Amino acid sequence: MSNPFKHQKPVATPMTVPQPSELRKLVFKQGKAMRATLKKLKQRPPKDLDEQFEKLHNQAFKKIDCLNCGNCCKTTSPMLFEKDIERLSQRLKMKPGDFTAQYLILDTDQLFCFKSAPCPFLNSDNSCDVYDDRPKACREFPHTNQRKMHTQLALAHHNIEICPAVYAIVEQLNTLV
Ligand code: SF4
Ligand code: SF4
Repeated sequence: MSNPFKHQKPVATPMTVPQPSELRKLVFKQGKAMRATLKKLKQRPPKDLDEQFEKLHNQAFKKIDCLNCGNCCKTTSPMLFEKDIERLSQRLKMKPGDFTAQYLILDTDQLFCFKSAPCPFLNSDNSCDVYDDRPKACREFPHTNQRKMHTQLALAHHNIEICPAVYAIVEQLNTLV
């Protein structure tokens, strides 16, 4: 079996990050090929996969300002763990139980998430009302500059439809396979 990065060379094409409004159409056209790339990478992850992701993640976020997007906060909910609930309750001067009752539900995996999307803490200018105390999952989104990226590929697969940066990153990986 061949290594998908066998002929690896520096990224040849300049990275373009799509507008959030273009994402759905682009994924409709390119999603199948991008998902095939992620599948290959999952089956045979190259040794430098984390470095590749990190480099592309940094390139993408040099080109995109999350305040011009907000798509993640508008369309999906982060998972919230006990520490997130404690921190947010404290910030809002609420009891954790009251915070949970007001804002959260359990998803099908029995994990807490916000009851509604867009997020109740998203402002109209795409800023976050609880930014310094936002959940860990919000801090780490879109999870493209983490260690052991081969374990995060299913998430990238899902997030190409949500995050223009993930789309741009996976599109570049596509050119290397
Ligand atoms: S808590 Fe803040 S960062 Fe997290 S989804 Fe809500 S608005 Fe977005
Ligand atoms: S993380 Fe991605 S989806 Fe969320 S605001 Fe930034 S570019 Fe948009």
